[in-house]
Amino acid sequence: LSGHPPFHFDLSTFDIYGSLAAGAELHLVPPEANLLPHELASFIRRSELTQWFSVPSTMAYMAKLGAVTAAGFETLERVIWCGEVLPTPVLVHWMQRLPNARFTNLYGPTETTIASSYYTVAECPSDETEAIPIGKPCAGEELLILDEHLTPVGQGEIGELYIGGVGLTRGYWRDEEKTMAAFVPDPRAPNSGRRVYKTGDLCRLGEDDLVYFLGRTDTQVKSRGYRIELGEIEAALATLEDIREGAVVGVETEGFEGVAICCAFVPATGEQSGNDVRQQLRNLLPPYMLPSRWRVMSSLPKNANGKIDRRALRESFAAEGDRNHTVTR
Ligand code: AMP
Repeated sequence: LSGHPPFHFDLSTFDIYGSLAAGAELHLVPPEANLLPHELASFIRRSELTQWFSVPSTMAYMAKLGAVTAAGFETLERVIWCGEVLPTPVLVHWMQRLPNARFTNLYGPTETTIASSYYTVAECPSDETEAIPIGKPCAGEELLILDEHLTPVGQGEIGELYIGGVGLTRGYWRDEEKTMAAFVPDPRAPNSGRRVYKTGDLCRLGEDDLVYFLGRTDTQVKSRGYRIELGEIEAALATLEDIREGAVVGVETEGFEGVAICCAFVPATGEQSGNDVRQQLRNLLPPYMLPSRWRVMSSLPKNANGKIDRRALRESFAAEGDRNHTVTR
């Protein structure tokens, strides 16, 4: 099995204890290989891995640079990913090249420890717009899809995912308030002391009885594997004197990036390019939070209530296309 995530990430415990429990060998992926898809491929080959567990951005990057070839991966029996949506075209790219491997999607927030649900893809999707389910609960875990009154929604309806069972952590370190807000009494037995975790993820139960992930209730996105609150970027943007107003939205891409972070802004005075603003934001934010697409506007689109229309912004950024990130088949 590959050991890909750093040790401070709960996902790494899956690799370590999973290998020990199965009597398998654990091969730690050298961190410097992460940005070199062909190096990752030769690591899989050299180590004769049977299980490759990585994240969608890595899988997309390897696909994009043509590093996935059946010839080199004869030993590989299973490919696993977790942490964000794997674009279906990337999955198809992998599955077509590795017809003998099984492909498993793991889903789960850190708060409920490693994975809470899983789905092993039945067959290579014939339609690249088909969504890959997050599947069924792992042993000892429960998935509940509830409305805002904590009542279960009907099959096929969209609700927020709550997780119960053995994976729940006690709460956030020294943050009772945040813990109380996210870990709520189990609505089916409010006095039992059992709790469920409010994920902030929108899901629905398909006709196939599998759970499908649809997006976030808030503005949290995953970009290049990082969990990012767009609001935090906007907050940093708002501190810049040269900006009159600005907004940050996430746009799904099919490439390595996952969600592209897009920023539109209105300069206060003079001429300011996206590059100028990016330079200023570099002092305030870690590199992975810096927007990758920019637009200078004379005013931001507003909705009927006078609020920034993020949806319109998102759509216009999405319409720009994703020319640089297409996956070849
Ligand atoms: P983290 O705690 O950093 O692992 O992030 C957890 C969040 O990542 C979840 O609440 C989901 O929004 C997202 N996530 C994790 N796994 C998946 C998956 N397999 N498919 C889609 N989203 C996922």
